[in-house]
Amino acid sequence: MQEKRKAERLHMLRTTGMDGVSKTRVILRGLFMACAACGSRGLFHHWWKMRESCPKCALVFDRSDGYWIGAVAVNTMMSAFLLLATVVVSFLLALPDPQWQPVLIPSVAVGVIAPVFLDPISRTFWTSMVAIGRPPGKRDEN
Ligand SMILES: [Zn+2]
Repeated sequence: MQEKRKAERLHMLRTTGMDGVSKTRVILRGLFMACAACGSRGLFHHWWKMRESCPKCALVFDRSDGYWIGAVAVNTMMSAFLLLATVVVSFLLALPDPQWQPVLIPSVAVGVIAPVFLDPISRTFWTSMVAIGRPPGKRDEN
């Protein structure tokens, strides 16, 4: 049964560019730094250097000029959310007499570290969102 499913996914991957999993699973693949099309790992040379294509299914990541602007937007939103959560939690922990240092120091640390840490995750997440909206098998002519 599982071999049959694997064969079906391989066939879907070859014919459509995606292996036929649900959109939720494609998004989860992006959040966990796996290939949106096939789910394989090893998409990065190191933390900040992404390969040009998936080593297993050859999905090309940089699909057009300005492609990574979306990943920057995703990174900004994720980082802003973490920063806001840090400010709120730090403030609540500092109650009833909040001082600026217990709120500012962790917030600055998260504000500096989060965008750097989230860079590869935002790239794979953006790739998964694009793969859902514009599957690799339906490429534009440009
Ligand atoms: Zn792949």
